[in-house]
Amino acid sequence: MRGQDANRQPNMRLTAALLVTVAVILSACADRDRLTELTLRGDTMGTRYSVLLVDPLDELQLDTLRAEIQQRLNEIDALASTYGTTSELSRFNRNASTQPISVSAELCAMISSALAISQDTGGAFDITVGSLVNLWGFGPDLRTNEPPSSDELQRAHASTGFRKIEANCDLGTVRKSNSNIKVDLSGWAKGYAADQLAQLLGDAGQDNFLVEIGGEIRAQGVNAESMPFAIALESPKTESRTIPVIINLSNAGVATSGSYRNFFNHDGLSYSHAIDPRTGQAVTHPLLAVTVVHPSTAYADAIATALLILGSNDGLALANQLDIAAYFAISNSGGTDYIASDAFLAGKYLSQSDRR
Ligand code: ADP
Ligand code: MG
Repeated sequence: MRGQDANRQPNMRLTAALLVTVAVILSACADRDRLTELTLRGDTMGTRYSVLLVDPLDELQLDTLRAEIQQRLNEIDALASTYGTTSELSRFNRNASTQPISVSAELCAMISSALAISQDTGGAFDITVGSLVNLWGFGPDLRTNEPPSSDELQRAHASTGFRKIEANCDLGTVRKSNSNIKVDLSGWAKGYAADQLAQLLGDAGQDNFLVEIGGEIRAQGVNAESMPFAIALESPKTESRTIPVIINLSNAGVATSGSYRNFFNHDGLSYSHAIDPRTGQAVTHPLLAVTVVHPSTAYADAIATALLILGSNDGLALANQLDIAAYFAISNSGGTDYIASDAFLAGKYLSQSDRR
């Protein structure tokens, strides 16, 4: 059986693990000319996005904002999609040169920041994981419902490793030391895009809003009641949709990586789309989901992927070492256990009744 295998879209991300949901109230017009608290919605990166605007704005401003949001998302997709064969990233991946390759300033900055996160996480987050992601059937290539052979794994693993690429953004180049390296930015592209929209909205004079892209969320300012936005974390167990916690969020991002929405079962093991770049193996451990809160949604998204790969013990240790607010949902025989890092508990993100 495979989770979420229907209707793959030719886009950056196959799935959106919608572990995080937001209680967004669609609202109406406060008066004839000024619109307050409304939500713009659309499609991007093979998933849905929504932008909740709290500050009043008129019809014309709204139309302009709507168009600018969609355009910025299209730009990011055209830059970083591994599904669209025409994206800049796909062209970079097809380029087999081991000489410095000229790339746009934005792609260079993304690759360079991702390499720094690889350093922070001991290589658990690694954008050179593209060949392995494809091999396991979670990329743009054909799906598979069984683990690859050890020969195939060895070959794909040989072209994986963040130390095998080098970004020199002063010169606007990225160099691969192995011509088969395939970069995959999907592990943090939604969080990155959420931050980019926050920047765009701020530049447009919006102070209070909530951006959500396929489950990754960025909150700015306060909601219509002048309170932090309340983000409900969904239970990762599909049979129960009870909400275990509410996160209070303002001027920060929250991202979740999950092993239970995009996976396949084989010989009693569940293989997730999170791939351990250090071994080449798809994650099979009982950590169901990790949620990270951080001022940068992009960073939260990347770190959530890294912590999911590390598992609950090593993941919790790294979160505490890096002072990262992280919340782990771990499967046990009877249900789900939840643990939080020190920074998560200290951050007062939880509503009082949720603290445990
Ligand atoms: P989701 O939010 O959908 O749960 P993640 O943010 O965890 O997803 O990203 C998962 C995607 O990231 C995979 O589908 C794959 O494309 C890519 N990926 C898988 N393993 C890694 C890794 N170790 N480092 C970086 N990206 C990865
Ligand atoms: Mg991620």
